[in-house]
Amino acid sequence: MKDLSIVIPLYNEEESVDALCEEVRAAADRLNLDYEALLVDDGSTDRTPEKLRQVCGRDPRFRALRFRRNYGQTAALQAGFDQARGKVVITLDGDLQNDPADFGLLLRTLDEGYDVVCGWRRDRQDSLSRRVPSVAANWLIGALTGIRLHDNGCTLKAYRAGVVKRARLYAEMHRFMAPMMSLSGSRCKEVVVNHRARRFGRSKYGFSRIWKVALDLLAVRMLLGFTTRPAKWFAVMAVPFFFAMMLALAASVYVHFGVAADEKYPLVFPAVTILCAFAFAHLTIVGVFSELVVRMGDFKETEAALASGDHLP
Ligand code: UDP
Ligand code: MG
Repeated sequence: MKDLSIVIPLYNEEESVDALCEEVRAAADRLNLDYEALLVDDGSTDRTPEKLRQVCGRDPRFRALRFRRNYGQTAALQAGFDQARGKVVITLDGDLQNDPADFGLLLRTLDEGYDVVCGWRRDRQDSLSRRVPSVAANWLIGALTGIRLHDNGCTLKAYRAGVVKRARLYAEMHRFMAPMMSLSGSRCKEVVVNHRARRFGRSKYGFSRIWKVALDLLAVRMLLGFTTRPAKWFAVMAVPFFFAMMLALAASVYVHFGVAADEKYPLVFPAVTILCAFAFAHLTIVGVFSELVVRMGDFKETEAALASGDHLP
């Protein structure tokens, strides 16, 4: 177990690697902690892998992981979380935009009794075309999740290991780390951090990020609602079938035993009754099972949390 793991995703950042690792080393050395830096190469096609190999050869505290192809920043962070051996995990971008000099601030804030500390790039050094959609996205994330942060997109964050070890990230979910974690009980805090303009290379995201973020936000919202009370969702779908079934049943009785008792009337209403009954029963059973699955997951999580000592006193 180390005191600190520093996780950095890199995709085609060859010019930044040397300066980045130097800054990270200087900042981490000042903290007097037993640390490791995990450099995750997300399938770079430039000289990033060679650069990383050199850095790791010079200092055993720096370890590189390499993806065969570009899987995206979220997957790179997840790989870093999986490998991290620190009691605390700090993440930051590999393009020198985040400032390693903020590590101390993040750790001190974490020690005030938080599980996640998020950087807020208040004086953000990106173009207006990036900052304006970001303000809208942060507002939307706040409105949909109820967790209001100024800057969800800032990679510079610190987490207690117990929190990231439970995370299973996919798609673009690294942008919703704080809302996801605070909804599962973690205490989150935002602190203002330094931000710098990109010195080398260029941003890996274009305008298409807006759609991706919107879709993933929807997915997160659904997941959050669904995984707490799945039976409720199925109940909402099942109830209309129940009423339709009762109506069709009443119509069947009325038609076949009442007005048309003596005639050969087509069996439309009884057929609809049976169909609706099947749909209702099916949705109810699936709802009950999904509730069971989720509850079982909850129990496992609680058990794991208790076993690892990661619980509130
Ligand atoms: N990144 C990555 N995989 C990707 C895209 C980006 O690992 O598919 C890394 C990138 O190298 C950088 C960080 O994620 O270290 C943030 O990317 P970028 O600076 O392009 O995003 P921006 O700051 O423009 O939001
Ligand atoms: Mg950047």
